[in-house]
Amino acid sequence: MKDIAWKLSILGDAAKYDASCASSGSTGRGTAAAPGGVGSAAPSGICHAWGTDGRCISLLKVLLTNVCVYDCAYCINRRSNDVPRVSFSVTELVDLTIGFYRRNYIEGLFLSSGIAGDPDHTMARMLAVVKNLRSERGFNGYIHVKAIPGASARLIQETGYYADRMSVNIELPSEESLRILAPEKSRSSVLGPMALMDDLSLSGGGKRLPSPYRIDERAPDMVRDYPVPYRPSRSAHPFIPAGQSTQMIVGASPESDSRIIRLAEGLYRRFGLKRVYYSAYIPVNCDPRLPGAGKPPLKREHRLYQADWLLRFYRFRAEELFSGDRGNLEEDLDPKTAWALANYGLYPVDMRKADYDTLLRVPGIGVISARRIMDARRAGGLNFDALKKTGVVMKRAKFFITCGGRAYEPFPDNPLVLRNLLTDAPLPTLPGRSSQLELPF
Ligand code: SF4
Repeated sequence: MKDIAWKLSILGDAAKYDASCASSGSTGRGTAAAPGGVGSAAPSGICHAWGTDGRCISLLKVLLTNVCVYDCAYCINRRSNDVPRVSFSVTELVDLTIGFYRRNYIEGLFLSSGIAGDPDHTMARMLAVVKNLRSERGFNGYIHVKAIPGASARLIQETGYYADRMSVNIELPSEESLRILAPEKSRSSVLGPMALMDDLSLSGGGKRLPSPYRIDERAPDMVRDYPVPYRPSRSAHPFIPAGQSTQMIVGASPESDSRIIRLAEGLYRRFGLKRVYYSAYIPVNCDPRLPGAGKPPLKREHRLYQADWLLRFYRFRAEELFSGDRGNLEEDLDPKTAWALANYGLYPVDMRKADYDTLLRVPGIGVISARRIMDARRAGGLNFDALKKTGVVMKRAKFFITCGGRAYEPFPDNPLVLRNLLTDAPLPTLPGRSSQLELPF
């Protein structure tokens, strides 16, 4: 047991750099469809279980091994680092997961791994863990498994029928940066598994995101090496019912926010990703290919999450957020307010007349409040008091709206004046990252 605790301290610590552990969207196991066993992926509420550092805390988040034959510049586990190397056996990790679950420490498993031997060998061991948990131990809790870049389609496919979510990290925003910082990985070794998982999700009855987030514009080379091995029968358990996600490191390479957000938009469209996670680069290695030691760019990460929300829920397109030759999001303004100030002539918007899409473009009005405004209008008599009850953030929205032609307070004629009024106070210092501060704005 002492040996297991030692391994856990090393492999749990080594897993903490992966931010893509959210667990939303899973259903099925532990319900009427899969009675018996222990745990349930559906009603446990684990998708909102975040630690004080913004990370999910109810999953056992661990590597199968930190042995790795690759040498990615930014990674603590790269083969050239002199760190203690340990591996769990399949049985050890299965027993640990079940033991933690029974003690109520965790509600699921987030399993990643260094690449020990070759991608197929590693993927096969990860498959053995999840297969054992589901088939032998009746574990119905949430399972998120990393797909190993370069692993064969058959192994990724089989793993996906035991997992709730899978992810393959794109890591860096351009092929050039991947070549410099992670030379053993390639664009196709990452995008190929993404395309495969998307195909399998759809063939298993998965749903595509609504337009405009799903269009099929994959280049043939992305899928060439990953033909779908077989179509599952209708009775098979769904393939990764919680979908797939990915993670991008921000600040380890020179790409702009524009490049990052455009790439994220492309991933949502092409592969139906549930989430793209942005992880502020944390220096753990001395390497001339990397930026020097410094604080992780948490505020940049936070702005990228806000821009990502605009893509996914507010019907923005990436190109709208980067007008002219602007490459980066503004640090002191959230991207929606920055867009509103750049398009000041479109305001004020009258709350009694504006359509849903226009409401979504008003700073201080979120998706829920926009729906409530539409409902309140149908019920008749929308005024500023009723507006406040819809959840609109008036201290932000008041500069952009009228109600029945009346302003809440006089508008500054000059957007620069408004900019000063709306500029964010600095984010509070966070002990970890800001990645989960996904407040509607
Ligand atoms: S393959 Fe993964 S574990 Fe190995 S060095 Fe690269 S990032 Fe680290």
